[in-house]
Amino acid sequence: MSEHIKLFIPGPVEVRRDILEAQTQWMIGHRGKAFESLFARIQTKLRTVFYTQQRVYLSTSSGTGLWEAAARNCVSDDPDAGVLATVCGAFSERWADVFERNGKATTRLTVPEGEPITPELVEAALRARQADPTKKPFEAIAIVHNETSCGLTNPLAEIVAVVKALSPETLILVDAVSSLGGVKIEFDALGLDVLLTSSQKCLGLPPGLAFAAVSDRALAKAHTVRNRGYYFDFVEMEAFLRKNHTPATPAISLMFALDRQLDDILAEGLEQRFARHRCLAERTRAWAKQRFALFPREPYASDTVTCVKNTRGIDISALNAFLAQRNMHLSDGYGALKGKTFRIAHMADTTEADIAALLAAIDEFLGE
Ligand SMILES: *Cc1c(COP(=O)(O)O)cnc(C)c1O
Repeated sequence: MSEHIKLFIPGPVEVRRDILEAQTQWMIGHRGKAFESLFARIQTKLRTVFYTQQRVYLSTSSGTGLWEAAARNCVSDDPDAGVLATVCGAFSERWADVFERNGKATTRLTVPEGEPITPELVEAALRARQADPTKKPFEAIAIVHNETSCGLTNPLAEIVAVVKALSPETLILVDAVSSLGGVKIEFDALGLDVLLTSSQKCLGLPPGLAFAAVSDRALAKAHTVRNRGYYFDFVEMEAFLRKNHTPATPAISLMFALDRQLDDILAEGLEQRFARHRCLAERTRAWAKQRFALFPREPYASDTVTCVKNTRGIDISALNAFLAQRNMHLSDGYGALKGKTFRIAHMADTTEADIAALLAAIDEFLGE
């Protein structure tokens, strides 16, 4: 095996050795009994992790594939309807772009990076829509729960409450790629319609799988939408899910690892897991405020990734070269924030000792 560099980047994250090794089981066919029981076990556990009694589709793709799925299944090509895409950073902007490139009428609600999407802004956008006689209600709203590019968590429950009150027919599509499994998100209780994530972030798996809880309401909508495509068609996924199958050959090796990791996640306990993430975040934030500053407005700072404002103007590449000698690696700022910020992920199976070692190493670099 190659040298082990511990990853503190917001995906792909560090994966435990036994999870990596779980991928090396003998191959099984995806139309046989062994697969069906693997799929069924995984489905039961995924529903627990997503807090849903509806369904969780498993996709052999990264999370981006399920962005496309949400766009193609939940929004029609009606130019007078479409999606309200909330944008608060690089990932939410990219999801808005996915809607557009799939030919969906896309209305952006954009805030500066580091600022949250507030319920007040969503309310204003929904009211403006209602006041426009040439337009129909939004078919969907898209929200990135945890904007990984700037380490910010949006107030999801408050936003959802506004949508339910003002525009109950609007489907609520949520990207929780960098939060699901690290922060509590109750799909059924919140009344969400699509909640998607990737394997390589808070779930602590290698990249290659993505998951989406999908409501009955979203599935019913998909039946009415034309041109859903093939690979990401919810109607197709549903028909196969009912037989404990996937439409095409899935990444079976990754499913072996997932089966094992979901056991470990549930053995840790979801509440305990969320508390651990919060604890690691508090520790990292306290350090960041002492040495630098937080980039996002503090009450909205993420519990899974801390985006530090580079107030000392340190060279992030030099920092990473220094950390590499200690077998650690963190993330530079994303896009326009490169050099101006750096990011420390504290998600998945990261421990207090891991974070303590990383922060001590950065202090050594700083000469603190
Ligand atoms: C990483 C990330 C994505 C992209 O996911 P992929 O699995 O790389 O396709 C989307 N949204 C957020 C918030 C992310 O952090």
